[in-house]
Amino acid sequence: MSGPQRLIGGIEAGGTKFVCAVGDADGRIARLATVQTRDPDATLAETVAFFRTAAADLGPIAALGVASFGPLDLDPTSPDHGSLTRTPKPGWSGINLRTHLSQALACPVTVDTDVNGAGLGEGMLGAGRGLDCFAYLTVGTGIGGGLIVEQRPVHGLLHPEMGHLLVRRHPGDQTFRGCCPFHGDCLEGLASGTAIMDRQGHSLSGNKPDDPICDIVADYIGQLCSALFLLASPRRIIIGGGVMSSGALFPPVRAKVASQLEGYVGGLSNGADFAELIVPPALGDRAGITGALLMGAQFQTHKSAVNSSISGSQI
Ligand code: ZN
Repeated sequence: MSGPQRLIGGIEAGGTKFVCAVGDADGRIARLATVQTRDPDATLAETVAFFRTAAADLGPIAALGVASFGPLDLDPTSPDHGSLTRTPKPGWSGINLRTHLSQALACPVTVDTDVNGAGLGEGMLGAGRGLDCFAYLTVGTGIGGGLIVEQRPVHGLLHPEMGHLLVRRHPGDQTFRGCCPFHGDCLEGLASGTAIMDRQGHSLSGNKPDDPICDIVADYIGQLCSALFLLASPRRIIIGGGVMSSGALFPPVRAKVASQLEGYVGGLSNGADFAELIVPPALGDRAGITGALLMGAQFQTHKSAVNSSISGSQI
């Protein structure tokens, strides 16, 4: 990084790992580390240690953006703003990431969902650039989705919980009960990496493209994409996460969406028509951590503007 730059921190907080980075306000990463997600005390202690060492070596951290697994309380007026709510992850329900990290690191902290963070990253530097409305999905251990409108993630009442969409059963999938602890056979319960492991004891990387499970998983992911096109009219759906990372599922997902929508949206009638509309993240597996850095940078800019307007009004 050249010249005097604000140092920004970012965390992509996931169920299996916390990716931690410091970098600049443009999302460029200067230092990166991965912390395995265990219980909250051990995980957050190691995370805080990374940022304290980075600050000692590189300079003070101006703000920290956290793109986290959820569900999260994102209501700025709530006393629990920035905390995990009813997560199935043992020990993490009620942990307030925002207050814990802001006190430990003495810097402003902003928290959003992992998919909203990755969506912001893709919107500013990746496959969502220049689009006024797009969605970012992740299909990994769990399934989540964020909707980015005019470069801002939609929060509303809570935040979107697209992974828990109720889906229509694939005709060849009538016996698997689903693994969602809350809903059983919602989308995440049927098509997440966890569901795939429960079904067959290994990930899709051990399957051939014409194995029935690939058609089943593509059908369910396609149902979320179809619902999104109908509900929110995104110009693009970006799908990351381990289940999609090989790229093999994109053609069957696009074909499923074409068949489910029957040309109803924009006259698009076959999988190839969706080649530019349903895509992998341009930032690859850096979308989340890059987005977290950009969240931190935006938050710091916002706070500075608020502070200067307050001090200006006092003169
Ligand atoms: Zn569910």
